[in-house]
Amino acid sequence: MRVVIVGGGMAGLVLARGLVLRGVTPVVVERSPAGVVVEGPIMLPFQAYDALEELGLLVDIRAAGRDVPPFRDGRPVAIGVGRQLVLERLREGLEILWDQEVVDLLRNGDRVTGVRVRGPEGERDVPADIVVGADGTHSRVRELAGFPAETRVSDTAFVSFRSPARCEEAFLIHFTSDGRQLTLLDWPGGSAGGWQIERPAGGAQEALAPGAAAFKAAYLRLMPGAADALAPVTDVFYREVTEVRCEVWWRPGVTLIGEALHAMNPEAGIGSGLGMGDAQALGIAIARSPEDPDAALAEYERWRRPAVAPYLAVGSQGVRVVRGGELLDEERWPPPT
Ligand SMILES: Cc1cc2nc3c(=O)[nH]c(=O)nc-3n(C[C@H](O)[C@H](O)[C@H](O)COP(=O)(O)OP(=O)(O)OC[C@H]3O[C@@H](n4cnc5c(N)ncnc54)[C@H](O)[C@@H]3O)c2cc1C
Repeated sequence: MRVVIVGGGMAGLVLARGLVLRGVTPVVVERSPAGVVVEGPIMLPFQAYDALEELGLLVDIRAAGRDVPPFRDGRPVAIGVGRQLVLERLREGLEILWDQEVVDLLRNGDRVTGVRVRGPEGERDVPADIVVGADGTHSRVRELAGFPAETRVSDTAFVSFRSPARCEEAFLIHFTSDGRQLTLLDWPGGSAGGWQIERPAGGAQEALAPGAAAFKAAYLRLMPGAADALAPVTDVFYREVTEVRCEVWWRPGVTLIGEALHAMNPEAGIGSGLGMGDAQALGIAIARSPEDPDAALAEYERWRRPAVAPYLAVGSQGVRVVRGGELLDEERWPPPT
């Protein structure tokens, strides 16, 4: 079976490794250049553990990160770890076509039969029995394959920061009255945090106008435990989030996994886990039907759709702890004038 994976993010790489484990060598096409470095940490949720364990990487990644224990029983619910480290571990042993962007799908009638890639040396065609769009929220594969998808910019956005200083606690969270979060994640490279705010009409300009010093003071009033981590921070950044729901999971010769299929708001903290779970299920399904791509894709959907359905039904708002009542002035960012 010839499998082309479009996108060398966490979902695509877990699929590639899972296929190699099962005797299938896929082609991974990644538009970034080799040597790209992805800064900052990720909070890898427990939903990622099964896929990583199967690849023999969980122990190593856990040792290189920091467990995020739940409040009482001490069992870790997540790992705070560098994104780059996870990507590097996943890339080991894989051949990746770097600097190659998928610009079109090849077709034979209704069936997708490969991809057209564009790189520094021009365009070329890569044939496939299955093309997997693991190409993230703004998936080109999803668009080219004509999968109807609901994409929307979330009504919440984030003002975030990274710090070289560590935090004593592995993870701090504070919920404002409406259930939105302020978080701080410790990891071996320092700490990183953010404030989830109502998306301001004026976007980044409005959210960042009061300046980093004012932001730090306001954040610390709600998260006093973040004082040491925040001390060296001189810069904060603003990020909006696009959420994706896609009802169609596959068509002959093509399917989607990870954020290309279902991008949730990062407030849920489970995006990577869901993507890795998709990848694991698809890898198993492909290995079980090596001669029949459509049977593999149908099996993938049959197993995986019910597993992600509860997360998608509840959405990221399911993690909110809402106290109710009006937002206090100190819970608003940017501050009321
Ligand atoms: C701000 C933010 C914070 C997050 N925090 C967390 C967190 O703490 N915990 C968590 O579990 N999840 C988190 N997530 C989600 C998590 O990052 C993703 O679920 C995870 O990285 C898996 O994504 P993916 O592999 O599906 O897509 P991506 O990581 O987006 O990878 C897609 C890849 O496809 C490549 N690509 C795109 N188009 C093409 C093309 N045409 N041709 C070739 N290559 C292409 C891209 O370069 C990229 O490498 C967060 C997301 C955001 C936006």
